[in-house]
Amino acid sequence: MINELKINELNEFTQLNLHPQLVQAVTDFGYTTPTPIQSAVIPVMLTGQDVIGQAQTGTGKTAAFSLPILHNLAAGQGHVQCLVLTPTRELAIQVANAMYDYGRYSGVRVLPVYGGQPYSRQIGRLKKGIDVVVGTPGRLLDLIRQKALDLKNVSTVVLDEADEMLSMGFIEDIESILNETSTDRQTALFSATLPPEIRHLANRYMREPHSFTIGGKKLTVAGVEQRYYLVNEADRLAALTRLFEIEPITSALIFARTRIGTSELANELTVRGFPAEALNGDMSQDARERVLNRFRHNQLKVLVATDVAARGLDIDDISHVFNYDLPDDPELYVHRVGRTGRAGKTGIAISLLTPREQGYLSKIEGFTKQKITRAPLPTVEDIQAYREAQLRERMSVWLQPGDCQQEYELVLRLTKDGYNPMEIAAAALKLVRADEKQRPIAPLSEVQEWSSKAKFNGKRSNGNGRSNSNSNNRSTDSHEKGMVRLSLSTGKADGIRVNHVVGTLAHYANIPGDSIGKILIDKQHTFVDVPEKFVGQVLAKTGAYRIGKQTITVKRA
Ligand code: AMP
Repeated sequence: MINELKINELNEFTQLNLHPQLVQAVTDFGYTTPTPIQSAVIPVMLTGQDVIGQAQTGTGKTAAFSLPILHNLAAGQGHVQCLVLTPTRELAIQVANAMYDYGRYSGVRVLPVYGGQPYSRQIGRLKKGIDVVVGTPGRLLDLIRQKALDLKNVSTVVLDEADEMLSMGFIEDIESILNETSTDRQTALFSATLPPEIRHLANRYMREPHSFTIGGKKLTVAGVEQRYYLVNEADRLAALTRLFEIEPITSALIFARTRIGTSELANELTVRGFPAEALNGDMSQDARERVLNRFRHNQLKVLVATDVAARGLDIDDISHVFNYDLPDDPELYVHRVGRTGRAGKTGIAISLLTPREQGYLSKIEGFTKQKITRAPLPTVEDIQAYREAQLRERMSVWLQPGDCQQEYELVLRLTKDGYNPMEIAAAALKLVRADEKQRPIAPLSEVQEWSSKAKFNGKRSNGNGRSNSNSNNRSTDSHEKGMVRLSLSTGKADGIRVNHVVGTLAHYANIPGDSIGKILIDKQHTFVDVPEKFVGQVLAKTGAYRIGKQTITVKRA
């Protein structure tokens, strides 16, 4: 059961009854007034009760859970008292740093743990005694299994960005970790959205949590023109570049979650004449700030971001949001699309979707109560006509008599050399249009409409070229060049889902999740396309893969 509590805004940190050392630390950081989520969460967490905070990054949620935890820590216990789970290494480091900073006068020992770092360092620090561990679920489970991390005496567990952990396939890992802790622990869950799986998790693992919803700036799709274009999986980039030709873009945010990845997509756009940069979790805070500043000041028109990286992005002037592939969850669609059309401006949201994903639209439309209109992609002729119209418009500015005196004299000299004025004009236009060569109009393959019977029915390709299709489709869904199909000893009968497969392979084989290609889930088996270069790495870990309690073997299909 979830209680709704009215948020009581407090004006000063001093009114929250926190230890003076903590008040001093936040004062050092220049905080004087608690943010709404801090006013709501701190008093409840101080009493040891469970909390659900629906809040995004940027609302001050880290201090909201860190301060009461630090207040309640008992000095010199010699065991882990608090555990914070985060979806990414970056967030683990960020949260650990924040807790360390807020606890600077309290002598708290905080340790971030995440994959990719040697175990020895983390285990060594754990042995010395740590009060708060902040980590990603995979690494935490590994440390638990190696008996390097004992959670029996943990009094508070925080699940930060729970919806992100869900979409990264961590939900069962989270459950396994929670099962390692005492049932009388305090649990706090923070999430930008609350999909049903997260609500179930809360119902199973939390005790009468107090629930708070903190809107950052309210995101809405009202007033946004929403369109979709039907494309084949292989044609997403071609379709995007065609749209870039004719859309009046002043500032565009592209959401991508594909194998091609944000950096690769930004590169592909740049070489095609549309300069773009990526914003993703691999970037340092500095690099991220630099890119954001350029975008904010319109020195950069196109940004390609993942959902996680775009969290908390507070920019009003975005003319276009592109869904290079559709998000898993209608709420995420609103989060993405709500980033345009803000501050009373009109915005355009464009989604590219494959026939297989078409049925998913009605889910989003049902959720937003708004129609997303299908539109035809511009043809080669449309783009050529548009380019010509643009050129005519640019030229008309200079076609006033006397406006280009110097060039006029150059033409005179060229005619004296014997050239015909019409030919001179044509040659000059050819030079002006030279940049169009950099932007060849990409061909598009014909889209086969999904038959209504076979139409998507709630399940969808996850936009990564991955699909949940059954074995009947295997012959048509043949794997791509450079990819090798592997077979996993788990399938529909085990309740397996695409994100489990991606999560477990990426974690145990230590390969990038977005490098994984098509996924076909059969009754007993799952077929996964993996880039050739990672096959050895993936096969080497056969038997080590786990999804929930199940151990999984992998072999060539
Ligand atoms: P978060 O949502 O936890 O990522 O916090 C967003 C930013 O707000 C961080 O840079 C914090 O340092 C800052 N912040 C958190 N609480 C406050 C506060 N009460 N006053 C001013 N800034 C804050």
